[in-house]
Amino acid sequence: MADIIDLAQKRTAEIVQEAIDLVRRAARSDADGDADGEDPACRICGDTIDPRRMKLMPGAMTCVDCQRDIEQELKSKGYSNWT
Ligand SMILES: [Zn+2]
Repeated sequence: MADIIDLAQKRTAEIVQEAIDLVRRAARSDADGDADGEDPACRICGDTIDPRRMKLMPGAMTCVDCQRDIEQELKSKGYSNWT
């Protein structure tokens, strides 16, 4: 049974790392400057981000659903200071 738990923990760590890498890459590509007023698309699923969300959180890179997934993943790993 320990093997299954180890595998699950390893996979969870990989998923969290992928999410962090994705957000970091997106942040870097933003710094390169493509803020040209196009409809913002979620960097994870590609859906258009709700304009109301962009108004509340200018610079948001993910839709509400993906952001919630990331936060839940990070919280489950103990990254409580993630914003
Ligand atoms: Zn999304």
